[in-house]
Amino acid sequence: MTKKEIEDKVIEYAGKAEYNSKTTENEVKDRINSAVKQIVALAFLLPNQGKDFRFGQNQKVVLILSQMRKDIEAIIKKSVRYAKSISGRLNGQFGYKTADWDTDKWVESQRYNKTYLQRLYTYTLRMKFELEAFVAVGMVRNLSQNQITDWFMININSPHTVPEILDAEGYLAVRTSGILLVGTGGITSAYKSIVRLNKDMVMAGYAIANNKTWGKYGLYKYVLVVNDAKTCAACQMNIGLTFPADEFVAPLHPSCRCREVLIVP
Ligand SMILES: [Zn+2]
Repeated sequence: MTKKEIEDKVIEYAGKAEYNSKTTENEVKDRINSAVKQIVALAFLLPNQGKDFRFGQNQKVVLILSQMRKDIEAIIKKSVRYAKSISGRLNGQFGYKTADWDTDKWVESQRYNKTYLQRLYTYTLRMKFELEAFVAVGMVRNLSQNQITDWFMININSPHTVPEILDAEGYLAVRTSGILLVGTGGITSAYKSIVRLNKDMVMAGYAIANNKTWGKYGLYKYVLVVNDAKTCAACQMNIGLTFPADEFVAPLHPSCRCREVLIVP
């Protein structure tokens, strides 16, 4: 195979791994939908109905959210396992099959200075606050449980752009608690953060599986950097460099477009 053919193959297989992370998003959304339904139903049984509505430390809400978090972790784990099987196909007979979930989580955590679980906890908590604001505003507008659930799900990608939610006291409480993260596109919703976590894990898992396969045979690799106006300085530094095959190099950051290519002797 020519250098170009190998690079094309690497991009094609990375695309397959990434595509699967997209199909997983719907599974995550369905799971969130069923938790939201349960939580909204519960909200109507709690005190402080109306604009001052709060979940507080309600144990039932905590339980529903922790079960949702565990199920989301299982969904992400499954999509990482699939990415690894794609690495196996890319590498043919050199396929690497071990389910090394803890290593994946550790490597991924290095980019955020937060463990994988801390991130999932933070996003779940953020979703609780988002939901609190929708319930409070929904009660003021006399919406039914189903209407509040649907309203939240429709706005799950950007709940903070809904004007009434912006004004809701629940939202202000979130903002002052420092739990929301402000990214380049404004405030990132809990759902979007979870989706990104999944994609990061998938791409890191795919790269780790390749590293293990290649490293076993003492090979070298280089990083195929997509070099355009959006490419960051850190990725640009990898242009033309060679690395030991088992070293974790790319993806360098969330949404990194760099791919590792084996140097075939
Ligand atoms: Zn990059």
